[in-house]
Amino acid sequence: THTDVDTRIRQLTPSVINKIAAGEVIERPASVVKELLENSVDALSSRIEVEIENGGVDCIRIVDDGEGIHPDDFELSVASHATSKIVDADDLFRVQTMGFRGEALASIAEVSQFQLRSRRRGADIGMELNVHGGILKEPHVCGCPEGTRIEVRQLFFNTPVRRKFLKTPATEFGHISEQFTRIALANPNLHLVLRHNDKIVYELPATHRLIERLELFYGSKLTEQLIWVESEHEGAHIRGYVAHPSQSKATRKGQYLFLNGRWIQDRSLQHALSEAYRGLVMVGRHPISFLFLEVDPNQVDVNVHPTKSEVRFQNSQILYRLLLSTLRNQFLSMDLDSRLDLPN
Ligand code: ADP
Ligand code: MG
Repeated sequence: THTDVDTRIRQLTPSVINKIAAGEVIERPASVVKELLENSVDALSSRIEVEIENGGVDCIRIVDDGEGIHPDDFELSVASHATSKIVDADDLFRVQTMGFRGEALASIAEVSQFQLRSRRRGADIGMELNVHGGILKEPHVCGCPEGTRIEVRQLFFNTPVRRKFLKTPATEFGHISEQFTRIALANPNLHLVLRHNDKIVYELPATHRLIERLELFYGSKLTEQLIWVESEHEGAHIRGYVAHPSQSKATRKGQYLFLNGRWIQDRSLQHALSEAYRGLVMVGRHPISFLFLEVDPNQVDVNVHPTKSEVRFQNSQILYRLLLSTLRNQFLSMDLDSRLDLPN
């Protein structure tokens, strides 16, 4: 039975609003790692170290050597909808940075014990800010190297339901490792380190050759057989590697698609890939690929999902056809065509 009281509308308190917003961006420790890595990339770092304790549940620490944060901007950096990356809505279609929503630090600081230390390039001193479950302490001067260091402890300590949904540290670390891999493949020019419980999981020296980075992840057995593809049509570019059809996987986990430097998930492009390999890999198997797509930023809306992993193209057919034809032409030229079962 409904009483008058529980059907009345109430304005939610800022604390509840912030926790709801945080939940959209920060689902698990890996979301924190993704957001912080993207910030370090946006800050033009050349070296980024990620340290994880206990699957990220106890501690996530990211240290970069990027531009750092202005001493007057520390409190603003953890305010929601506060960003240095866009000014107005039109910028959404010009944005070259990974971030622009100004929500990540606010969300993370809302649901953790958060510490930010940063010193701008060329500045004499650094600053430190601590936030405990959304409650800011006064920022203060601190000695620290140039760049930014963020420590996130006790994630979801104040949202017990979220915390209860976390899986084992091994599973959570698996998700973290996947996020790290996506950033690492998209940015071979960065020196990246990932540690878990004080053990080095990946140490990736900067390189200008994507293939070297791929080899560190997947070994030379895979990379020696990779096929380079590159093409361009109507302002859309594709470049990257696809695996020989003899190397396939039972899942799509070996398929990496990047759009304008950002990892994306796109059903239509996955379908183009499957179509290109049709007749070459067994039914139920999936080809491996590391493909980098570039389109004019004004042709794509990246603001359709809080994590930006799904995008909307103004004309999705251009990329679909380009991907399909690039791969088919490549396979035909390699004389894999005798095994091709092309419908047209
Ligand atoms: P967004 O990345 O969408 O701008 P965030 O909440 O992730 O929003 O970050 C807020 C702001 O804090 C950024 O716009 C940037 O100015 C600053 N910032 C965050 N991380 C770093 C970093 N590692 N180095 C330099 N500045 C940073
Ligand atoms: Mg960001």
